[in-house]
Amino acid sequence: MKVRVDPELCIACGACVSLVPEVYDWDDDGKAVAVEDEVPVEMEDEVKESIEDCPTDAIAEV
Ligand code: SF4
Repeated sequence: MKVRVDPELCIACGACVSLVPEVYDWDDDGKAVAVEDEVPVEMEDEVKESIEDCPTDAIAEV
């Protein structure tokens, strides 16, 4: 799976970056950004959790 953060929706709460720092980081505008690579299989459950936990539904599987 791959994920993408919509910067228009991200409110920079930090939940995803805290939960899966291997996949999410901050961009220069202070919004979360996801790695463009395929999510490692062992992290898929946490990434799915991060999608569900995002308060603004800014994270989507692509
Ligand atoms: S959980 Fe959602 S709103 Fe919070 S930093 Fe991540 S993408 Fe942005």
